[in-house]
Amino acid sequence: MTKGLEKRETESLALFGGPRLFSTPKPTSNLVRPDYDRFFEYVQRMETAPVRLTEELEQRLATMHEVKHCITANSGFWALALLIDALRLPGRNEVILPSLTYRRMADIIAWVGLIPHFCDIERSTLANSADTVLPCVNEQTAAIIGVHPVGGHCDIDGLSSLARNHRIPLIFDSVESVHERHKGKRIGSFGDAELFSIGASKLVNGFEGGYITTNDPKLADTLRHKRCGAGAGKTLNVQLPDIHAAMALSGLDGLASQLERNLARFERYREELADIPFLRLVEQDTATEPSHKNIVMEVLDCWPFSRDQTVQLLNAEMILARAYYAPPLTHKPMTYLHIATALPNTDWAANRFISMPCGHLVSLDDISRIADFLRLLQRHACAILDRMAKQQQPA
Ligand SMILES: *Cc1c(COP(=O)(O)O)cnc(C)c1O
Repeated sequence: MTKGLEKRETESLALFGGPRLFSTPKPTSNLVRPDYDRFFEYVQRMETAPVRLTEELEQRLATMHEVKHCITANSGFWALALLIDALRLPGRNEVILPSLTYRRMADIIAWVGLIPHFCDIERSTLANSADTVLPCVNEQTAAIIGVHPVGGHCDIDGLSSLARNHRIPLIFDSVESVHERHKGKRIGSFGDAELFSIGASKLVNGFEGGYITTNDPKLADTLRHKRCGAGAGKTLNVQLPDIHAAMALSGLDGLASQLERNLARFERYREELADIPFLRLVEQDTATEPSHKNIVMEVLDCWPFSRDQTVQLLNAEMILARAYYAPPLTHKPMTYLHIATALPNTDWAANRFISMPCGHLVSLDDISRIADFLRLLQRHACAILDRMAKQQQPA
């Protein structure tokens, strides 16, 4: 840790050539590390255990999600590809998804051979809802993806009844809501199936990997069959190697203590941001038992810097805050066929939110120092903006 470095003067900002506030990066990725010994115990079991470790992981996850079936795969990306392919209504070619979301979501749909049809989000949840999906439903709709945002949920009940009424398969991307509850029930058994990831940046770290949960035994069978490369058309072998299961299982053993640490980080942000006007911590409904894996801040209109300027200033200091799901997928050039109409709420949200550093590599003290830096930005806003503008001018 860089001790004693006080950014009192505008001159000392790293963006203007001063020393960085942190000597090691402060990321937004969870990068949680399990107990070392525990991990190696699981690795040893790989050779001796009567059932494969991936099966043990599947049982453990099914129990956690209060659902009948869990099917692992080598990533969330390929798990979703399998799932869309398995659930799509035959003879139809559109999948509805939000634009403000995980950057590769539309690629997955295109890979399966279908057309992404982008819907808007609600401002209150930053997620899609029955109201935003309904205008996109047509006779070509093959499936709907409800995506849980970072913090909070998409409209689980509304999307479920819309999908039921129109007899369209419904998938929830629940990567960001692994351990939460909706009306008391664990996330994992809503819609036709739910998708999760155990990549290194997620709540449960399996190095890489993903899984699907469902209560539908036929769908579970199909997915188990498909992940081994069996099936018509494009085939994939996307099984999860046991070493990933060892990592994820040791992560699950340490989940309760991780949740406590995440909550402490969130509370530190809340405390620190309370006296910084125009930066708003996105609060979470405690009834959902949020995991606080990621922390999102809204840049309100009166904050002197734009969202992107704020991120730029932070990044220069090794505070690797990131623009929240930026840019929305519909703001990027796309090489494949897709459908997008006006998405006013997506456009509104596109430049307002920041994912703040959190996870294993960020201490409570780091958070206080980040907040101090934000206070400094606010105090010297005029001088800093002036200097930034000069930097932009061609020499
Ligand atoms: C990370 C992520 C995925 C994909 O998971 P990978 O295991 O990284 O392929 C899908 N959806 C969301 C919302 C994600 O954050």
